[in-house]
Amino acid sequence: MQLKLAIGGAVPSTTDNSLTQYSIVVTCNKCAGLHEMGISVTMEDGPTYKQSIRDVYDGKSLPKSLANLTNTSISCPKTGRQSTQKNHHQIFLVPTTNDSPKRRPKSIAATSIKF
Ligand SMILES: [Zn+2]
Repeated sequence: MQLKLAIGGAVPSTTDNSLTQYSIVVTCNKCAGLHEMGISVTMEDGPTYKQSIRDVYDGKSLPKSLANLTNTSISCPKTGRQSTQKNHHQIFLVPTTNDSPKRRPKSIAATSIKF
């Protein structure tokens, strides 16, 4: 009976895995390159690969934090000029925490040892 309780108690610690962190990358109007905005967002059940915010929120309204990106100026490291990207197809979410699947079994093992 005690063993059953112990197993149940270990399960909730793995629920954070459904959250994926993304960095915001924008197509530059000045040099046509991709620049990171230095902004990160966390999303539940988001895409596992680079995708534009228009595609991620296809047919849905954008969260305010992402909608505001069209008013945020980006400084281009190549030309030194400021620009804003108004096109939702040119603003991308790039997963930053979901690209290391090898870490998952390790963290599960660590949890059981800790326990
Ligand atoms: Zn640029």
